[in-house]
Amino acid sequence: MHSSISGTTRLLGLIGDPVDHSLSPAMHNAALAALGENYCYVPFPVAPDHLAAAVAGLAAIGVRGFNVTIPHKQAILPLLQQVDARASAVGAVNTVYPLPGGGWAGTNTDIDGFLQPLLPLKLKGIPTLILGSGGAARAVIQGCLEQGLQPLRVVGRSPQKLATLQQTWPQIQVLTWAELDSCLAQTQLVINTTPIGMQKGEFDAKNTATSPLSWEQLRLLPTGAIVYDLIYVPDPTLLLQMAADLGHTPITGLEMLIQQGAKALSLWLGGKPVPVAMMRQAAQQQLAQS
Ligand code: NAP
Repeated sequence: MHSSISGTTRLLGLIGDPVDHSLSPAMHNAALAALGENYCYVPFPVAPDHLAAAVAGLAAIGVRGFNVTIPHKQAILPLLQQVDARASAVGAVNTVYPLPGGGWAGTNTDIDGFLQPLLPLKLKGIPTLILGSGGAARAVIQGCLEQGLQPLRVVGRSPQKLATLQQTWPQIQVLTWAELDSCLAQTQLVINTTPIGMQKGEFDAKNTATSPLSWEQLRLLPTGAIVYDLIYVPDPTLLLQMAADLGHTPITGLEMLIQQGAKALSLWLGGKPVPVAMMRQAAQQQLAQS
């Protein structure tokens, strides 16, 4: 946020339900202040029934761009005048910006945010396994395929969702959780896109809410494996702690959150470089306080 709000302050924001615990306002406002940009990023709680009215209202008051979070990432698509090919493939938009002639365009910076920590590792062609088949998994699949991570396997519990994924991306392999162990020894990158692990605690085979993979399953991974957890609260998750204890390389979901935000902010500011380190610091500070 700029040091003072004035008649020329422009608005950016976030729509979701709920938005109370979002780290985005802290991240974006810290970056905007550092850049001296006269913008303010505001979270707007929007109930599903009010989505269309909210999107029209944001245009009416001249908002310069906004992020979209749960539960609106899919529902917003028909309300946008333009959606890029990657967001269309994923079926979800997390960043919206105004079109020059009026109306909104949507894109998906979750894909870039997810990929950013992997790019320096030059992973093309490594066998990859995605745990979960929900909304975040779709952005992750798109990113993995763009980077040539293969074979690409997806584990899910809903046969219907797995079939839909297979239809969208015929090059992936889908499997059930019961089939998981058989492919771990050939997997060099595991990505958790389920919410399993948001609950803190020791791994307990009877309480599978704490980690999507057990010690035994993590031991099946080859030396040098990378374990990427999209969850960022707690940070690190039990999955990442266990993976690090076994000598695997952990990647936290906080980096994806920061990088998707940095990409969105840069887009709203016309391609300007943004202070990512400052956004990371603001997110970490807010997490430490919560
Ligand atoms: P979602 O659409 O609800 O998908 C969750 C997936 O996990 C579904 O496939 C679901 O299976 C599966 N799942 C849930 N509980 C399970 C269990 N006990 N056993 C097996 N599978 C289970 O949610 P999402 O939007 O994809 O988000 C998933 C996670 O990613 C959340 O923790 C979210 O915070 C995180 N995330 C992080 C970032 C980031 O920037 N770091 C961005 C997006 C999401 P069913 O389909 O059968 O229900």
